[in-house]
Amino acid sequence: MSEVKYKRVIMKLSGEALAGDKKTGINPPVIQKVAEELKDVHDMGVQIAIVVGGGNMWRGETGEQMGMERVQADYIGMLGTVMNALALQDSLESLGVPTRVQTSIEMRQIAEPYIRRKAVRHLEKNRIVIFAAGTGSPYFSTDTTAALRAAEIGAEAILMAKNGVDGVYSADPNIDTNATKFDELTHMDIIDKGLNVMDTTASSLSMENNIPLVVFNLNQTGNIKRVVIGENIGTTVKG
Ligand code: UDP
Repeated sequence: MSEVKYKRVIMKLSGEALAGDKKTGINPPVIQKVAEELKDVHDMGVQIAIVVGGGNMWRGETGEQMGMERVQADYIGMLGTVMNALALQDSLESLGVPTRVQTSIEMRQIAEPYIRRKAVRHLEKNRIVIFAAGTGSPYFSTDTTAALRAAEIGAEAILMAKNGVDGVYSADPNIDTNATKFDELTHMDIIDKGLNVMDTTASSLSMENNIPLVVFNLNQTGNIKRVVIGENIGTTVKG
């Protein structure tokens, strides 16, 4: 454990990260690869909690744009994250990693309800805890869920896994060739500059609770481990 920088982390895994090239639905081989990387970090004794997104299934905002009532559309989004959580649990357990899924909306037949003390206990027993159904409330995001749960369970960092982007840039590097990558930022920088990292609610919650955020590229093998041992990859956001 001495070589580890963070002993307890929350990883935010967007829905897109579970979908592969098609960007929608669940892609089991893609999830299996993520699970293998998580297992390596778990084997090092790091306590891992994961907040799964649901953008590969449904986004409340899109539903609203199509004429749906926002709250209803957001509940559909939260249910999408539960499907992702079960798929990730399946992959982790196929590798022999003990896991628990906790949902913010009760679904007792398939998962435990979210109970903070129980989540912490699972982590102490070296089980990976997967948080599903976001905060359980509409109008929030799974980024905000990650910031909230990180504060609640005392995570030392939020690992923001990105698909193909290796950190935070001054502009979209796929569009603007002059875009430059930041090695370090503050949460306030993100809010002030309107950088596309996480939403403002998530940023301000992370800032208020002084939780560092590491934004890194999930698509490069070994990166979760690199972040956890403190290698300088991606962008670190703190302060
Ligand atoms: N959502 C919500 N409350 C929450 C978290 C999520 O209503 O606390 C809904 C919201 O509609 C969102 C969807 O779930 O669009 C999927 O979550 P998110 O967009 O954060 O997933 P990601 O982009 O990370 O895949």
